[in-house]
Amino acid sequence: MTDLRIAGIGMTSARTRDRLVQRLRDQGIVNPAVLERIRNVPRHIFVDEALGSRAYEDTALPIGFGQTISQPYIVARMTEALLDGGPLARVLEIGTGCGYQSAVLSPLVTTLFTIERIAPLMERARERLKELGMRNVRFRHGDGSVGWKAHGPFDGILVAAAPLSVPAAWLQQLKPGGRLIVPVGPEGEQQLVRFTQKDQRLEKQNLGPVAFVPLLGGTG
Ligand code: SAH
Repeated sequence: MTDLRIAGIGMTSARTRDRLVQRLRDQGIVNPAVLERIRNVPRHIFVDEALGSRAYEDTALPIGFGQTISQPYIVARMTEALLDGGPLARVLEIGTGCGYQSAVLSPLVTTLFTIERIAPLMERARERLKELGMRNVRFRHGDGSVGWKAHGPFDGILVAAAPLSVPAAWLQQLKPGGRLIVPVGPEGEQQLVRFTQKDQRLEKQNLGPVAFVPLLGGTG
């Protein structure tokens, strides 16, 4: 891949990305670091070349294996909800997919740990992030519903696939003050929820309706 391909031309150019950022601002995204990441991450390299011209539309797109790249607004919203009070040290992401959310998040944290159950998706994500020079991301092929205990506890956990209910392991792997951002519920009825570990108790905040692929067990 050439530098020009990463920089983008025409429908993938800086101007097209600026329009997307303005749109997210209009929809209420305010964190400047998050908006800067959306501007800088070349979303077009995370989708098939044939879909490249649609990469800066605020919409989910197919990435193969029945999975989708998340809508930029949702990536921005989740990242903003996760960071809230500022940068975080150790963050766990569940559902790497094509790696777009990881690319947005990784420079905003010290170390990003990411788990994906479909091996070829994870391998492609690994290559793209390497190409973009992101060296603080650790990958794991496996079932993210058990978290990643060996590297926990985490300051934040961000989940990109919806469970019917929140696995206990995620809450157990949160540091005091840590935040879990997760879509919960069956298709058509999911809510984005933020859990915060506070003074030995769990604070729950509803962030509104969302549509994610389901969290599946085992590996693909
Ligand atoms: N974060 C991606 C979106 C990924 S879509 C982006 O930036 O666009 C959700 C991903 O979660 C899919 O790739 C799916 O394979 C994965 N997934 C579903 N259940 C999982 C599980 N139990 N463990 C790990 N990954 C899972």
